[in-house]
Amino acid sequence: MGAWLLLVPRGFPGRWLGLVCMAPLACVPATRPPLGEAWFSVLDVGQGLATVLRTTHHTLVYDTGPGRPGGYDAGAAVVVPFLRYWGVQQIDTLMVSHADNDHSGGAPSIRATLHVDRLLGGIQGAEPCVRGMTWNWDGIDFRVIHPTADTAFVDNDASCVLRVAWPGGSLLLTGDIGHAAEHQLLLHTPEDLPATIIVAPHHGSHAGSTLAFVNTVAPQMVIYATGYRNRYHFPNPEVVARYAAVGATSFNTAQQGTLDFQLRPNRPTTVQSWRFVARHYWHFPIPPDEGVQTPVD
Ligand SMILES: [Zn+2]
Repeated sequence: MGAWLLLVPRGFPGRWLGLVCMAPLACVPATRPPLGEAWFSVLDVGQGLATVLRTTHHTLVYDTGPGRPGGYDAGAAVVVPFLRYWGVQQIDTLMVSHADNDHSGGAPSIRATLHVDRLLGGIQGAEPCVRGMTWNWDGIDFRVIHPTADTAFVDNDASCVLRVAWPGGSLLLTGDIGHAAEHQLLLHTPEDLPATIIVAPHHGSHAGSTLAFVNTVAPQMVIYATGYRNRYHFPNPEVVARYAAVGATSFNTAQQGTLDFQLRPNRPTTVQSWRFVARHYWHFPIPPDEGVQTPVD
């Protein structure tokens, strides 16, 4: 019998994995998070947002990146390969924050490839997100905190806002909400906002992350999901400065590629950047934006 070669990107988070290679073509990442822990990834889909959160037995996909028939489709090109790499057979919940293409465009190809148990959010055929929806997977709490059932918000401000909590920390996924939705949250349920990690509303644009909102969330980490040299110049420097002023460490998919966060119970969150751990010769150095730090492995 010949030797089997297992190809894993150099530096891929091997220390997180137990790699099982029992037979030809059966080499798969075998490990999932232990109970009470979650692994959260913000995928590099260019200008847009796609994230995956896995618990011991469940998988959530929140937003799918952009996609156009006959054109670039982040669902087929990035999200599905990522899930397959990790051996994910089905998506328990696919939450699409709102209908804008940079969040929803990859959904059709994902749904055509993988079974989706529950479809939530702002696209056709989905169950609407309503404040108060809650569930618990493997010791991790999920709670929709926006919009309310009687919401008058539309478009970006109607984005599903999801709060994820594990022992000792919390994460806010905010879609593309802007000042109006932030104001509503601050006015009625400010207790929902403080978080360890936030994916900045609307890619860190000036339309979101008001000073009051940033000061109330007061995250330790902020993630900007942006495309390299995007035409909107996201993230906005004033917004970056606001998060820096509350002491948040910043990450940006445009500079650092896909970001993997280990949300560990009562222990510090660890972060790995694909551009950092899986660097190839075609990855020319991108100088970090001011205030955007490169994580140390
Ligand atoms: Zn967007």
